[in-house]
Amino acid sequence: MKLFTIGPVEMYPSTKIIRDKGFVHFRSNEFSEIVNFSLSKLSSLLGNSVKNSLIYLSASGTAAMEATVENCMDDNDKALVINGGAFGHRFCELLKYHNIRFDSIDLKWNEELTKEHLLPYENKDYTSLFVNIHETHTGQLYDIKMLSDFCKRNNMYFIVDAISAFLADEYDMEKYGVDLTIISSQKGLCLSPGCAFVSFSKKMIDKINSKDKVSSKYFDFKDYLINIPRGQTPYTPPVCIMYELQDMLNIIEREGGKDGRLRNVKAKCEYFRKKAKEIGLKIPNYPLSNMLTPVEFDDDTNAYDVIQVLKDKYKIFVNPCGGDMANKLLRVSHIGNTTTDDIDNLIEKLQLSINEVKEKELIYDRK
Ligand SMILES: *Cc1c(COP(=O)(O)O)cnc(C)c1O
Repeated sequence: MKLFTIGPVEMYPSTKIIRDKGFVHFRSNEFSEIVNFSLSKLSSLLGNSVKNSLIYLSASGTAAMEATVENCMDDNDKALVINGGAFGHRFCELLKYHNIRFDSIDLKWNEELTKEHLLPYENKDYTSLFVNIHETHTGQLYDIKMLSDFCKRNNMYFIVDAISAFLADEYDMEKYGVDLTIISSQKGLCLSPGCAFVSFSKKMIDKINSKDKVSSKYFDFKDYLINIPRGQTPYTPPVCIMYELQDMLNIIEREGGKDGRLRNVKAKCEYFRKKAKEIGLKIPNYPLSNMLTPVEFDDDTNAYDVIQVLKDKYKIFVNPCGGDMANKLLRVSHIGNTTTDDIDNLIEKLQLSINEVKEKELIYDRK
C-alpha cells in the first residue's frame, strides 16, 4: 500500500515504530526536555525567533483554526478572508459561528488571486487577514509577499493557516511579518494525525493576553502560553506525536535542514508533473504549491472512479476533491515518504486506471 494522500501521508519507517518503543509520562522533566527541544527547532523552521511563542494542542488542524478565531478576535475586529476553496470557506464559517465581523474575497474555480482582488479592501477598517496560504482544496498557492505587503500597508494582523504549505513551500514568519501560523502533525511533518501547532508574533501574544474572556476553556491560548516555558501543556498532550516529531526533526536535519527538505519535496513534485504531462494529464494553470498536484479530467473520465480503481486494484491512495470538483479533480501529494520509483509506479497505474474507467461506464456508485 502506498499513500500519495495529503494527510495523513506516507510516514517514514523510523517514525512509524516510535509507538512500540514506549515513552515516559508527560508530567516529567524528561518529557519537558523533549518538548522544549522540539518546539524550539520547529519555531526556527517556521522562522519565528520569539521565545516561548509556539504552543500545541491535542487536536486536528481545524481546532487550531477555531481556537485562533476565538482567542485572537473580538468585537472590535473585522477580518478579511481569502476564500478560494473549502479551507477558506472554513475560516468564513468559523468567524460567522463566533460572531466576528468579516468579509471574504471569494475566488471561483481556476481564478488566480491577484492584487486587483485586494484593491477594494485597501484603507478600510479591516484589522486582520485570514488566509490558508496554500488552499489545499484546489492546490493554489497564494503570493505570500503580496499578502504580507497588503497587511503591512493596512496595519492588519496577518493570520496564516500554513498547514499544507509548511515544509513544502518557502515560509518564514518574520520575513513576511506573519502574526500567527497554524500547522498540524499529519501534513508536511509526516506524523500521526492529532496534533496542531500555533506560532505567534510578539504583537499577537500581547493581543491574546489582553482578551480576558475566551468562550472555550480547553482552547484558551493563555493557559498554553503560561505552561509552555516549562515544556508543559494544561491537559494531556499527544505524547507519542511529540516523540514522532523528534524523529522527524532529525530526518529533516539529515536532509540538510529546511532548505534541503524543500528541495527534495520540490524535486518529487517536478518529477511527478513532468511524468504526468508525458501521459497527457491536465494540470491547472494557477500558481501551485509543491505540496500537491491537482489533476483535472474532462467529462469523459470521472476522477472519483479513477481514484477508486487506483485504490482497489493497485493499493495506491490519492485524494479525491470534495464539493463541486469531486468528479473532475484528483490530488496527488508530494510530502510523504515516497521515492521516484513510487512515482513511476503511480504514473503507470494511473494510466491503467484511467483506461479502465474510460472503457467501462459508471463503475462506482456515488456516495
Ligand atoms: C488539512 C488542512 C487543515 C486541517 O484539517 P483537519 O482535518 O482539521 O486536520 C486545515 N487547513 C488546511 C489548509 C489543510 O490542508
